[in-house]
Amino acid sequence: MQVVNDPAAMQALAEKIRLEGKQIGFVPTMGFLHEGHLTLVRACKTHSDVTVVSIFVNPTQFGPAEDLDRYPRDFERDRDLLEKQGVDILFAPVKDQLYPEGFSTDLRVEKVTERLCGASRPWHFPGVALIVCKLFHLVRPHEAFFGQKDYQQCLVIKRMVRDLDFGIRIHIVPTVREKDGLAMSSRNKYLSAQDRAQAVALVKALAVANRLYQAGERSADRLSAALSEALRDVPDARIDYAEVLDAETLAPATAETRTLVAALAVFFGTTRLIDNHILGESLPLVGQ
Ligand code: AMP
Repeated sequence: MQVVNDPAAMQALAEKIRLEGKQIGFVPTMGFLHEGHLTLVRACKTHSDVTVVSIFVNPTQFGPAEDLDRYPRDFERDRDLLEKQGVDILFAPVKDQLYPEGFSTDLRVEKVTERLCGASRPWHFPGVALIVCKLFHLVRPHEAFFGQKDYQQCLVIKRMVRDLDFGIRIHIVPTVREKDGLAMSSRNKYLSAQDRAQAVALVKALAVANRLYQAGERSADRLSAALSEALRDVPDARIDYAEVLDAETLAPATAETRTLVAALAVFFGTTRLIDNHILGESLPLVGQ
């Protein structure tokens, strides 16, 4: 596996690979890798001749009081895991190379960012769009892989790719979960044993809404209320949002809505966990 730190070197290498007629697949990450990330990597390998993974904890997507400084990092371990997966290139730039002195560009994807994380963390998606846009220019992928766990992020990236003619195929990979159903996340490491035990309530709430949906409930308001209700008795959970929306627009459901998504963000102390589920799809292992 080749490790590349310099953005210009990454771009030159990508151009060379393209000239050889090879397909580049790309998995952007912030590191501290878990099985969710590795599942994206495996999906990428099946679609590409050359698999590139990036590790970069992107400062522009964190708010001033958020966990940028204490975000978990373990580069050596990540590198070994990626090497074992047979990744071809690990791109690990440093902050000053990506955001040089005087950096002034802003990139906003509207509409799909009006609710959910876009509303409660308004700085977040401009930062995500910006870094993914930059990484796409440097890695020049044909295909890129994102996790459904960050469902709104997937829609933001798809919209940006379409609006700005990137010509990159975006794949959405289903959420990888722990045995009890908790969505894997680098941030789960922050949870105390007590909070970790309670955190399974997120997926259980999604399962409640899913069962209601499967039993015929189609009112987004009632489904949203059921999500909140399911979390009400979890002692240390503080709901940031619990909503059921149109899965294609992330706006309130209308008569034209074809698919609904249930989405949750819940704080345990200062740790904020998110999860979501497309209603009607199976949600294995949970809901007992
Ligand atoms: P992150 O390092 O948290 O920025 O995540 C990098 C990529 O991995 C994003 O596309 C995430 O959606 C994806 N990802 C994170 N957790 C999971 C998971 N549990 N299952 C599937 N994909 C995930």
